Amino acid sequence: MDGKDKKNRVRNWFGNLTPMKSFLFGIVFAILIVIIVGAIIVKVKNSGYGHEITDTKKNGERPELQVDLIEPNEYSRPQIKLKKVNGIVIHYTANPGSTAKQNRDYFNGLQYSKKTKASAHFIIGLDGEIVQCIPCKEIAYASNKRNYDTISIECCIPDDTGKFNDKTRKSLIELTTWLMGRYDLSIDDVIRHYDVTGKLCPKYYVEHEDAWKKLKDDMLDYIDKKGSKAD
Ligand SMILES: [Zn+2]
Repeated sequence: MDGKDKKNRVRNWFGNLTPMKSFLFGIVFAILIVIIVGAIIVKVKNSGYGHEITDTKKNGERPELQVDLIEPNEYSRPQIKLKKVNGIVIHYTANPGSTAKQNRDYFNGLQYSKKTKASAHFIIGLDGEIVQCIPCKEIAYASNKRNYDTISIECCIPDDTGKFNDKTRKSLIELTTWLMGRYDLSIDDVIRHYDVTGKLCPKYYVEHEDAWKKLKDDMLDYIDKKGSKAD
């Protein structure tokens, strides 16, 4: 069969396109486009990003906090005003087995050791305890260029994998969703230190993108379940 035969066969199969047939083909094509676009929109909405829940609900319930502020000093609490909160940055301590209190004391001790400039607004311990080290109206030294417009949360870890245990993870969800409501932030404003500088922090959630997405999905679910209507 040469090329010409092939062409003729195709033409015969379609027949001669009458205006009516062209019109029907057009309708079928338009319906297909609507179905495909609709499916894409539904997929994006369900993906967790562009989730509608946070637009209508907020978690207004403040989790239990232990306020144990770092003493004002230039290495960990410079008392620079945090004017506007545009995001929440999640970190891990990179120090397996250490407690929230130990990490808080480490930050506080930098004024004497002068080793580096570091701190965080909140540290979540292995028992799920939340220690606040810096008032939310001041910056912390945690997230490099985003220190000036974000709140930082450090999470303690039980081992080298850097994965948060269930208690730490639960408190993180409670604290982050409460802060989202307080500062009118969306789930896209919740980021990792990695997203600012490319640093491997929080380690497990950089190495496991699926775990990071699941964590954020669980935050949205928590708002959906616990949240009340936003004003
Ligand atoms: Zn970090």
